[in-house]
Amino acid sequence: MYDYHTHSSFSDDSRTPMNEMIEAAIKLGIKEMAITDHYDPNYPDQEFPFEMDFAGYHKALNEAKDTYQGRIKVVKGIEIGIQHGKILDKCIKAAKSYDYDFILGSFHCAEGMDLNSRAFFKDRSIEDSYIAFYTYMLDCLKVYKDYDVLGHINVIDRYTDQISPYPVYSELVDEILKLIISDGKGIEINTSSYRFGLKDTTPSKKILQRYSELGGEIITIGSDSHKIPLGNYFDRAKDMMKSAGLKYLATFNQRKIHFVPIDKL
Ligand SMILES: [Zn+2]
Ligand SMILES: [Zn+2]
Repeated sequence: MYDYHTHSSFSDDSRTPMNEMIEAAIKLGIKEMAITDHYDPNYPDQEFPFEMDFAGYHKALNEAKDTYQGRIKVVKGIEIGIQHGKILDKCIKAAKSYDYDFILGSFHCAEGMDLNSRAFFKDRSIEDSYIAFYTYMLDCLKVYKDYDVLGHINVIDRYTDQISPYPVYSELVDEILKLIISDGKGIEINTSSYRFGLKDTTPSKKILQRYSELGGEIITIGSDSHKIPLGNYFDRAKDMMKSAGLKYLATFNQRKIHFVPIDKL
């Protein structure tokens, strides 16, 4: 198994020490584990600022990579929260400040509001919220390129009572996927949608299908675990990949892709 989205106590929303996460992953037989702690500059909720102790984090990643060598491959990652404007400079600086193996680019906010607080959805219809969210994502990704894989592309589905019908935002998502593909980036299957029993998978089957149809081939699978359940529901993720006609799982070393055939997972 290759779990490419995990958190430790370096993230403001996790209390699990990095070594506990890694040791649990070894017990589960996980081959590669990307540690992707949060850096979300200018996150609006001050209770969870998602700032990062970069010096401490980089030291811990280096030590973990050495300590566990031969038992598990620790992939030195980060999950960068993308937001437009001056915040992008902070994202770019963070991405370039260290020799990461893998950078997950994620949207947790749009238009200066965090999705989690639901402020983004106030005073507009569900259709307008989806259009605004994916428009914002597209605008950012036209400028921001310092990532390898886009995390949980349809994260907006987590925070609404009702999922907007796909045709409402399908053209925008197509444009985003085309941009991701032409930039040589990938998308992830985030299995937390199974764990939390969400309304749809992440990405939705339609988005994954479209990514494949448009020629996309770079897929990682991540549990997005903040405590122990690592690597769960990966069989379902593999089935999703097969149904979408995807044949390889992407792994990363020093930001370079290596493909593993899904039949060999
Ligand atoms: Zn995330
Ligand atoms: Zn995450």
